[in-house]
Amino acid sequence: MFEYAPAPESRSVVELDSSYGLFIDGAFEAAKDGATFKTVNPATEEVLAEVATAGPEDVDRAVAAARHAYGAWSALPGAERAKYLFRIARIIQERSRELAVLESLDNGKPIKESRDVDLPLVAAHFFYYAGWADKLPYAGFGPDPKPIGVAAQVIPWNFPLLMLAWKVAPALATGNTVVLKPAETTPLSALFFADVCRQAELPPGVVNIVTGAGDTGAYLVAHPDVDKVAFTGSTEVGREIARTVAGTGKRLTLELGGKAANIVFDDAPLDQAVEGIVNGIFFNQGHVCCAGSRLLVQENIAEELLASLKRRMGTLRVGDPLDKNTDIGAINSAAQLARITELSEIGAAEGAERWSPACQLPERGFWFAPTIFTGVTQAHRIAREEIFGPVLSVLTFRTPAEAVEKANNTPYGLSAGIWSEKGSRILAVADKLRAGVVWANTFNKFDPASPFGGYKESGYGREGGRHGLEAYLA
Ligand code: NAD
Ligand code: MG
Repeated sequence: MFEYAPAPESRSVVELDSSYGLFIDGAFEAAKDGATFKTVNPATEEVLAEVATAGPEDVDRAVAAARHAYGAWSALPGAERAKYLFRIARIIQERSRELAVLESLDNGKPIKESRDVDLPLVAAHFFYYAGWADKLPYAGFGPDPKPIGVAAQVIPWNFPLLMLAWKVAPALATGNTVVLKPAETTPLSALFFADVCRQAELPPGVVNIVTGAGDTGAYLVAHPDVDKVAFTGSTEVGREIARTVAGTGKRLTLELGGKAANIVFDDAPLDQAVEGIVNGIFFNQGHVCCAGSRLLVQENIAEELLASLKRRMGTLRVGDPLDKNTDIGAINSAAQLARITELSEIGAAEGAERWSPACQLPERGFWFAPTIFTGVTQAHRIAREEIFGPVLSVLTFRTPAEAVEKANNTPYGLSAGIWSEKGSRILAVADKLRAGVVWANTFNKFDPASPFGGYKESGYGREGGRHGLEAYLA
């Protein structure tokens, strides 16, 4: 294997303030009680900035600003709203290098991914929904579809700016106003997005950003003047939010966890499948709700495929997220690292065989080597629970029927992958999988025109595409 010289992206494109306020009604302001928290770079544990913690009164002000802005924003012709969204999309493209570096600093993901995946998709999402804003009467939701009102949006830390785009772009295109709460470990790109909104001269109050932890999110979704709640995150918190919202008349969409099967048949192109397996579970350190975290491989090719997969894993570079050669960056937080470590130890204790390539992990920061478990059975916790890290559980099957049965044997149903040379087999198996997205001979591919969402405990409602408009229309 070649040794690569370091190729660090310069962080000088990002100018960080030492502290950030809440973005309410078009201006940044401190929390009423002055409370703050720190966000760190998970690759170094360096504090990046102090950020305001929004309490109930701050959330009140943000919701009131969104309510006040709603009248004029919802009354604008769609073509006028589109102009703002196109402007936001173009500013994001212009500032994409800065935003990519910022995202890698606050989240720990490799710059290769924030630069080539997250940021292009963020811009594409705003462009896509900008295009819908003046065509809503033709979207299939009646001749004169109306917005819902004020949307409360709570997002996770794995794709901070992309999850913001998924939530904000369709909400604004359809004439709603929003109060968004980013995750407590990755608040910075949402605050930079607030600055993008100012640059685009978006009317004050149309987008409000409140930072803080779970308490802030809980006040926001419970606020009586919110009409619509959209949440992406853990199934546990999703359940709590569903209980809060029940009986209030608020509309709710939930995008929760997953335990996707990536199914490799014996006629699959093996080298391609190995790339897809690697991309499926090691992309974004495995902090991906639709990650291919269960590999189902046909028994007669299991040995050959695993040998090839291990060889490939030996070439993955783990380390500095800002290095352009890095494949796997830092785990987002100490808490997430503890969760991944615990579940992996349980996997070994339950009898599965654990393997990682030799790799040197940096001394400071939060790191986890890419790991596979073989000899996993369906009863093992590592086959059932979302690990949300770079850990793959490998199971085998003999027949297509057994593959389908095992793939569907999960409380989740967000995504799945099928690898086969045979088109008829792909269609037949895809038809039987209980998953919102099924990829064939590829994995983790996203496009703003394609709806995304789950079955069962993975949540309900769709984001993206024409379907994604429905969640924001009355
Ligand atoms: P989480 O669900 O606690 O956090 C997601 C967001 O919800 C954050 O913004 C958080 O502040 C907010 N939140 C927390 N409690 C809330 C409440 N009671 N009311 C309203 N908002 C609340 O997720 P986590 O603790 O960061 O991660 C735990 C596990 O969740 C992970 O290990 C992973 O399995 C899963 N997860 C899934 C996704 C996904 O994309 N589906 C994203 C992140 C985490
Ligand atoms: Mg951080």
